[in-house]
Amino acid sequence: MNKQKKMESVQQHIAAICCPYCRRSLQVKNGSLICTDGHTFDLARQGYVNMLNRPGNQQYDKRLFMARQEIITASGLYDVLHQKIAKVVKEYFAAGRSSLFMLDAGCGEGSHLQRIIERSQQPVITGVGLDLSKEGIKLAAQSYKEPLWFVGDLAKSPFTDGVFDAILNILSPANYKEFQRLLAPDGIVIKVVPRQNYLKELREALFMETEKKVYRKQSPAHRFKEHFELVDVMDVSHVTSLNQAHLSQLALMSPLSWTAERERIVRFSERETAGITIDLEILVGRLKG
Ligand SMILES: [Zn+2]
Repeated sequence: MNKQKKMESVQQHIAAICCPYCRRSLQVKNGSLICTDGHTFDLARQGYVNMLNRPGNQQYDKRLFMARQEIITASGLYDVLHQKIAKVVKEYFAAGRSSLFMLDAGCGEGSHLQRIIERSQQPVITGVGLDLSKEGIKLAAQSYKEPLWFVGDLAKSPFTDGVFDAILNILSPANYKEFQRLLAPDGIVIKVVPRQNYLKELREALFMETEKKVYRKQSPAHRFKEHFELVDVMDVSHVTSLNQAHLSQLALMSPLSWTAERERIVRFSERETAGITIDLEILVGRLKG
């Protein structure tokens, strides 16, 4: 999809987008989005809109996002997760909805969102991805042409009130106040959090017994329930065998690797094959009545 076509697609959804700084409405003009107060945001050649006027998160580089994309689309590690989320969406909106507007808040390079859209034949989902990382969004826009991709800050997101039927937040920090603002009255929030055994083989390989990273202090469901009425909770727990290429990509994509000893990462990456545990919880919520 060329820039012109993408611009038309943005134009089509212009009522859903607003200026992140003053919340005023936006207009498409000369290849940019301009608010009535004059704040301007450029549509990049790759087909995403940059809604930040400062450098975003630079911690994640392109190599990391490419590894993440390969793991999500080719290793099978997250297939069950995608199926379950697609099923939740289908069942929740079973009553006569033919199309949905869905945000992935903290979408990275976009593969989770894309996969879930592909799994959901009905209703048809229009996807919107938001992430602080320009490298992530750039790769998302290059890889997946249909969704709308935005570099932006979840604390000041560039969308109008109540515009999303569904909000995804997968293994990424939440901003529940903002989710409440963005969710349609009959919409759902789907949050995915790690459970105790998530990627335990990677943690065991990368850290000594005493320094193993513990994933949670307080139950994420507890905070979720303060903001939303909990509709459903599901577990996704299984072990999937990964080959050597995928094992090294898994080590590369994980923030765990940033603090681990190099030697341990290499040893993990050189295994020919290993079973990797997925242990996640899906929290489904709606606005409190
Ligand atoms: Zn503005």
